[in-house]
Amino acid sequence: MRIGAHVDPGDPLAEAHARGAEVVQFFLADPQGWKDPAPRADADQIKASDVQVFIHAPYVVNVATTNNRIRIPSRKLLLSHANAAATVGASGLIVHGGHMLKDDDLATGFENWRKTFAYAAEQGGFATPVLIENTASGDKACARRFDALARLWDAVGEFGVGFCLDTCHAHAGGEDLIDIVDRVMAITGRIDLIHANGSRDGFDSGRDRHDNLQSGMIDPKLVVAAIRASGAPAVVETPGGAEGQSGDIAYLRSELTD
Ligand SMILES: [Zn+2]
Repeated sequence: MRIGAHVDPGDPLAEAHARGAEVVQFFLADPQGWKDPAPRADADQIKASDVQVFIHAPYVVNVATTNNRIRIPSRKLLLSHANAAATVGASGLIVHGGHMLKDDDLATGFENWRKTFAYAAEQGGFATPVLIENTASGDKACARRFDALARLWDAVGEFGVGFCLDTCHAHAGGEDLIDIVDRVMAITGRIDLIHANGSRDGFDSGRDRHDNLQSGMIDPKLVVAAIRASGAPAVVETPGGAEGQSGDIAYLRSELTD
């Protein structure tokens, strides 16, 4: 089972080496910005390496919203990041499920998601598989609660969309981690990546603050169980830099090889 970490984009292969990671995730541009990714001088080197790569789309992307000034650029940004992610040989481009404005109907968000994939299909499709990630907060989120996730999948499932399960987001978002893989699989039919994170906050708190696996409010055995049940690669998005993440990776590896 491939275990790794979300790392700084400066030199992802060196960051992987520093953590004993077999898989890395990183951003290709400012996660809070709207810039298309710049070409990377090390793209061929990353693509040719043994390290599996996932790219995380910027946090500003929200293809579900009714706000045209966010939704339309979000679609374009997702396409440009999918193209750039292909140059580093990424296995997937992770994007948050997005959310609606307070007075909006969630149904519009699911329809906007469907239009995003239809729009991409007109451009020849996404160059990298898109993995939608569950999120922790908000009453009008498209992929926080799994009843919403099921409706989202009804809208986008036909496009071969992937799924990324974040354990912190599930816990803080109010979805129990016990048997979570079975519940997700019943909806999406696939889990392409696990974000193996602890949480600094309680169940259903709606707060997105990651913690290391053995110090947070999630029983780390439940994270291990989710990785094992999914058979998917796992990336820790945990604090503490190379040292903190190496500890989380070593913990997961020792538990998963028992
Ligand atoms: Zn995550």
